[in-house]
Amino acid sequence: MNEKRKDYISWDEYFMGVAKLSAMRSKDPNTQVGACIVSMNNKILSMGYNGLPIGCSDDEYPWGREGEPLDNKYFYTTHSELNAILNYRGGSLENSKIYVTLFPCNECAKAIIQCGIKAVVYDSDKYADTASVIASKRMLKSAGVEIIKYQSSGRKVSLDL
Ligand SMILES: [Zn+2]
Repeated sequence: MNEKRKDYISWDEYFMGVAKLSAMRSKDPNTQVGACIVSMNNKILSMGYNGLPIGCSDDEYPWGREGEPLDNKYFYTTHSELNAILNYRGGSLENSKIYVTLFPCNECAKAIIQCGIKAVVYDSDKYADTASVIASKRMLKSAGVEIIKYQSSGRKVSLDL
């Protein structure tokens, strides 16, 4: 065995894989989104998924999408991208990249821009027609943040957990 393995996963597969695995932590019954922030030299800096702030019980807050503002999830949940940004306590995220399983909303786009992230690698863009994502793309482009569609290899990876 003098030669290295050739079927190892790529950096893109690795980081999008971490984002997808992070999404599996979400308690949201409808939407599970994950994010992984990576330095320009391919070191993982932070991860996040959509959920409630620390101390707010997953069992006491609403997870629905309908009804009055105080009775649905939107006022209470934090998106995966913002959680990944806030989870990072190591210093600056300047010049990093963020891998996301779903294109960031306008609110997350603002946080991405303001913390110095320079590239967004996204998988799904299923809300591309919404005002939120249109506004997000407009701001990311204005700020010079590179937007990159993740190119799936189609590879299946299974884990025994
Ligand atoms: Zn968002």
